[in-house]
Amino acid sequence: MTNYDILIVGAGPVGSVIAERCATQLGWKVLLIDKRNHVAGNCYDRKHESGVLIHQYGPHYFRTNHQELVDYLSQFTEWIQGNYFVTSYSRGEYFPFPINLLTLAQFFKKPTLTPEEGQALLEEVREKIDNPQNSEEFVLSRVGKEMYEAFYLGYTLKQWDMHPKDLATSVCGRIPVRFNEDCRYVDHQFQLTPKEGFTALFEKMTNHPLIEKRLETDYKSLDINTPITIYTGPIDEYFNQCYGKLPWRSLEFEFKEYDEEYRQKNVQVNYPNEHDYTRTVEIKHVTQQQHPHTVISYEYPRAEGDPYYPIPTEENHQLYEKYRLLAEKETLEKNVYFCGRLAEYKYFNTDEVIENALRTFEALKATHANK
Ligand SMILES: Cc1cc2nc3c(=O)[nH]c(=O)nc-3n(C[C@H](O)[C@H](O)[C@H](O)COP(=O)(O)OP(=O)(O)OC[C@H]3O[C@@H](n4cnc5c(N)ncnc54)[C@H](O)[C@@H]3O)c2cc1C
Repeated sequence: MTNYDILIVGAGPVGSVIAERCATQLGWKVLLIDKRNHVAGNCYDRKHESGVLIHQYGPHYFRTNHQELVDYLSQFTEWIQGNYFVTSYSRGEYFPFPINLLTLAQFFKKPTLTPEEGQALLEEVREKIDNPQNSEEFVLSRVGKEMYEAFYLGYTLKQWDMHPKDLATSVCGRIPVRFNEDCRYVDHQFQLTPKEGFTALFEKMTNHPLIEKRLETDYKSLDINTPITIYTGPIDEYFNQCYGKLPWRSLEFEFKEYDEEYRQKNVQVNYPNEHDYTRTVEIKHVTQQQHPHTVISYEYPRAEGDPYYPIPTEENHQLYEKYRLLAEKETLEKNVYFCGRLAEYKYFNTDEVIENALRTFEALKATHANK
């Protein structure tokens, strides 16, 4: 295929969705590239040497409150129920996490707790900080010092290599505290996982005669002219880091195979205070694959490596803003659109990023279709 209507850089969720929409809704010829050797971006899953399906870049728990999003994705996959349960190992015990009434009862050694008793207990132990200014103050004002030290402090230090005092309230504030006995990791209405995995979903989405996929192809090494470009890579790299490098937190994953069907009781165990790794993940609990062996992924936070989490400080936000202004100009002058986690320097969950991609497609369509 030649004379592409659009070049899409990055075959992650954003790139794949926009490619699919352009091909099927507008009949455009699409060139979809990725520097990695696979589609699906960070949602990529694959069979480990043992045959056990693993999530290569960290566990992906798909969830959404939007039926329309489920309907859209259901064209490319069947689903199984998400089985997302997390425990936090502290003081020699496993506690349900995020904190709920069962966590509180176990932690404060009460036989049971009603919602009112749970609230009264937290009111007693929490620190009375009216206007929390950072993650430490936020957690102290919500659950008090003992639980802050048991569940949050060590985890945050490992994850970010920064003290919660130096992180925005939103970092720890994202984790709910529930006054019920719901032990699920998230509250969303739909908690689903693709039956054959994420890679199969995005493969199916991008298998179309009008989409040419070129893997192991870096944008920087590509010499091609297309009327429109969608760029989902790191925004600072696009502009040759002319204002400096945007910092990211990275992770290293160690996968270990075990000769047993399951090794831990639930998919994810957090280790706030022991070990160098932050969490162990046995994704088999989610994929529900039948296999005599299992694989555990050990997750080590790193300063260098693939960009995984934007570091949410004011300074970094300001730096991103400078790039965003350049990007706006690039869109107006050269029809280059920036969309996604790396291009917007923002942590998005997969459902959010796919909805953003669908909106970007609508904007493209309004501006460029039939011209
Ligand atoms: C550790 C971790 C855990 C997560 N857990 C969850 C979860 O439980 N639930 C959930 O909903 N979401 C989760 N997410 C978020 C999810 O991974 C993202 O929302 C989603 O992958 C973002 O899609 P994207 O297309 O914007 O970016 P990506 O998935 O990062 O895809 C971007 C693609 O662009 C390619 N690229 C970059 N630069 C270039 C270039 N110069 N040339 C060619 N290609 C390039 C990259 O190789 C990559 O494949 C998690 C993310 C991480 C890091």
